[in-house]
Formats: sequence, C-alpha cells, structure tokens
Amino acid sequence: MTTQTIIPLAWAKDWLTQPKNQYINGEWVKGENLNWDLKNPANGESLCQIPLASSQQVEATAVIANQHHEAGTWSKVSRTERANLLRAIATLIRNNVEKLALLETLPNGKLFSESMTDDIPTCADIFDYYAGWTDKYYGETSPVDKGFLNYTLKEPIGVCALIAPWNFPLYQASLKIAPALAMGNIVIIKPSEYTPLTTVFLMELIDEALNIPAGVINMLLTDGASANQLTLSHNVHKVSFTGSTDIGRRIVQNSGQSNLKSTTLELGGKSPCIFFEDAPDLDGAIDRAFTVMFSHKGEKCSEPTRFIIHSNIYDYVLDKLITKAEAIKCGNPLSADVDQGPQCNEVQFNKIMEYIKIGKSEARLVTGGYADTEGENAKGYFIRPTIFADVAPDARIAQEEIFGPVLSCIRFDTTEEAISIANGTEYGLAAGLYTANVSRAHKVAEQLDSGMLFINRYGCYGLAAPFGGFKQSGWGKEMAIHSLSSYTKTKGVWVYYGDA
Ligand code: NAD
Repeated sequence: MTTQTIIPLAWAKDWLTQPKNQYINGEWVKGENLNWDLKNPANGESLCQIPLASSQQVEATAVIANQHHEAGTWSKVSRTERANLLRAIATLIRNNVEKLALLETLPNGKLFSESMTDDIPTCADIFDYYAGWTDKYYGETSPVDKGFLNYTLKEPIGVCALIAPWNFPLYQASLKIAPALAMGNIVIIKPSEYTPLTTVFLMELIDEALNIPAGVINMLLTDGASANQLTLSHNVHKVSFTGSTDIGRRIVQNSGQSNLKSTTLELGGKSPCIFFEDAPDLDGAIDRAFTVMFSHKGEKCSEPTRFIIHSNIYDYVLDKLITKAEAIKCGNPLSADVDQGPQCNEVQFNKIMEYIKIGKSEARLVTGGYADTEGENAKGYFIRPTIFADVAPDARIAQEEIFGPVLSCIRFDTTEEAISIANGTEYGLAAGLYTANVSRAHKVAEQLDSGMLFINRYGCYGLAAPFGGFKQSGWGKEMAIHSLSSYTKTKGVWVYYGDA
C-alpha cells in the first residue's frame, strides 16, 4: 500500500445504506426472500441488509438469460466490440481500486493492503487478458479424406451460472465472467452471500458506464438454498463453481438429474509442501511457504497446509515457523501495521476452532491454538496462527480441509515416504517441494498426484498458466486458454465437395 492511499470509509458508509438489489435483464430488482444481515467479521457489526433472491427469481433469471442466448444478444456482438467492453471493465476496476478494495475487505476480513495491491488490480488484469483472446480462440480444419472438408467451430455454450466463494470474491468472479463473456456467453454471476459487495459495486459501475446489452450479465444475490436452482435449471447450460467439495458433489448430482449441464469445479485442498534436507536457501524456503500458508488468514484453497519435513531439518524448520507465527499481529484489516485479519464469518471461525480442538487431541500443539480476543479484537473472528507438530499422516487435521491459519507438520525419512504422505489425502489441488537435486525434483514431481506443482518456490500463479486440481479438488482447469475451452462447445462441420 502506498502512503498516499486514502481508505474511502465515508463513501462506503453512505454506499452501504443504499438498497442492495439483484441485477436481472439490465434492471435492479429487489430480492423476494428474507434479508441477509451482512456482517463485518472484524467487529461483528452489521454492514448492510440484502434481500436475497428466491429460487423462483433464480429460475426466472435463467429463463430470461436463455432467451438472450437464443436471440444471440451477445454472441452476435462482434469480437472487437466484446474485447472493447472487456477492456472498459478493466478500466472501471482500475479507476475504482480503493473503493473496490475496501468493499472486498469489509465483509471478508482480508487485509486492505492485500485487496489494494493484489486482489483488485489482478481483476482488472483478468478482463484485459481475456479481452485479448476474443479473436484468438477459434476452430481448426481437420486432416480428413480427399473430397471432404471438416472444420470445427468454437461456439458459446449458452447460459453460464458462475458461482463464486467468499475467499477471493471479485477475483473469482472476474476469472469466470471475463472468459465467459469473451466467448459470447450469457452470464449469471452468483457471488457468495458472505462477500457480495464488490460484485454489486462492479455491476453498478458497468450499468452506469457501459453499453453492454441488457440481459448479458445478470447478478443474483442469494444463498445456497436458492442458488441450487441454477444447477437444476434446464435454462442453464454451464456451471462454473468454486467452493467446497461437498457442494461441488451436489452440483454434479443436480446436473445429472437435470440437463447434464457441463461443470467446471474448483474445490477444496489439503496441499503438501515437502522440505528435503538439501532444500536450497532453506530460510528463504521457510519464509515463502509460511507466507503462502498464513497470508489471507489461511483461507486459500491451494495453500500448503501440510509441511512434510525431512527428519534432519525438522527441528530447525519448526523453530523458524514458531518464531514467525508468534510475530504475527492479528487485528483490524484496515490498519497498515496488522498482519492478519479475522476469519471471514462465524461459521468458518467455529469450524476452525473445532479443528484446533481435534488437533490438540491428535498432535503436539507448538504455537497458537486459541482465538485472539485482545483489546479491539474481542468481537471479531480472530484466530492466532496455529501450528501442530508430529502430526500423523492419517490424523484428521492432516486429512481434512480446515481453511484457516492451522498448519500440520509431518516428519519423514525417505523420499518414498514423503511421496506417499503427500499423495495420501482425497485432495490433489497443489503440491510443492524444495530440493537442490534436479533429478529428485523431477522424479518426485512426476509422482505427486496434484494439479499444480511448485518446485523450489511454493505458490506461483499467472493468468497464462492453468489453475486447478486433481482428485476431489476439482474438474477442469481455469485461467489461460483452459477457461476459453470451458466456455465453448466445439462443433464439427463436414462438407463433401466430390471426388477429384
Ligand atoms: P461453499 O461451497 O460453501 O460456497 C461456494 C458458493 O456456492 C457460494 O456462493 C454459495 O452460496 C454457493 N452454494 C452453496 N450451496 C450451493 C448449492 N446447493 N447450489 C449452488 N450454489 C451453492 O464454499 P465457500 O465456503 O464459499 O468457500 C470455501 C471453499 O471454497 C473451500 O473448500 C475452498 O477450498 C474452496 N475454494 C476452492 C478454490 C479452487 O480454486 N480450488 C478457490 C477458492 C476456494
């Protein structure tokens, strides 16, 4: 954060008092269900009331969206025009970065500095990135027999329901909206009920400033009970979901029970990071893995929640981790001198505290293990960075996703043992390893059953690289060209032009 950054608190206070409505077919419409009381997790205070969409409103939105799909409201817009509008969205985000960063932090609890320098600017980059793809992703001609021509068309899938979680709200929404629009689809975005504010504000900016045809981007503010209809509806052709594995499973069932809509799933994780005894720059490796694990208060799907450490360096690594964890200051995420904000909501806070209780009965607690209720933190959902040592690979805290600042440290002696521990969960989102031995790095990388592999730097991300997991961490990939193929269907066209 630059020292000049002014947090627009007075603006937000006023904005939060204005009605928070659904955006359907280019109109702002009041939700038909009861008000959702959106809370600030740093102090438990109410931020605003949001009337949620009913499942009837959800279905009605899907019907309208499908009418726009069939009419070609967006797919007939030229690729150049689509690109221009995506770039214009990127500019709107850049011009409102402070306001968006504040609206991201208030209901989520992530540090304002993280929202300001990382999350929100990346959203603008995503729209620019996919603007560039609108005329670069297309079909091919196939090498078929003489006298025939076969070519493929990349067509929009139709109505895409985009369901986002609360941990990176606008980032996850952007990662779905931008490629879906770039490929000519109609969009229904459903942010998490815990963190809808940035999506609402972005829709307001788009509605006021841009000439996107009505009905191309729709936004539903609702909970899982009503959003379930999106996954059951015959008027929805694609669901792109980021969230928990349990809900992902349900979405697949709903798709099977309805119209077999295509699904992309980015789900939970329990990612390992293996520290071999020859890890180059061991202190740097510990710093990096610790930062990825504990930043955003441990509410990141691909963070390394299991450190698998060689016996010869185990005590050294553990000592360093404890020192770093104990230096973390929990507090108001708007303060510049705070390292960790509150967990996003009460449900999540209680879930983490329950796992800490389980961990105390299964392993050796070496630091943290309690809620931080010091001073102004008393009414917030703050949890001290918590580290368990000597965790058995099959312990619940080593198997189940906690999604908070709780790290399990596991000791190993042989490479085979490290690989077996790393692969020994139902998840396969990401994995990391630190070693100076190039041959070992490649051999182990080959054997880790994980959608993303980080060698000698845990947590590398880029829009041009695929993101997504194996096993019960998900189906399909997001980012790069992979998002484009997930928002298109391929039509094969045959032409017979006669024998030569
Ligand atoms: P969640 O599954 O509770 O909710 C995710 C979204 O789904 C929310 O918008 C919610 O309202 C909606 N939802 C809930 N029930 C639904 C239903 N029946 N039908 C349709 N929509 C429904 O997840 P969360 O608590 O918001 O997020 C945390 C989870 O997300 C963690 O498990 C985390 O690992 C995962 N996650 C994964 C990735 C990834 O890329 N793999 C990224 C971020 C978060």
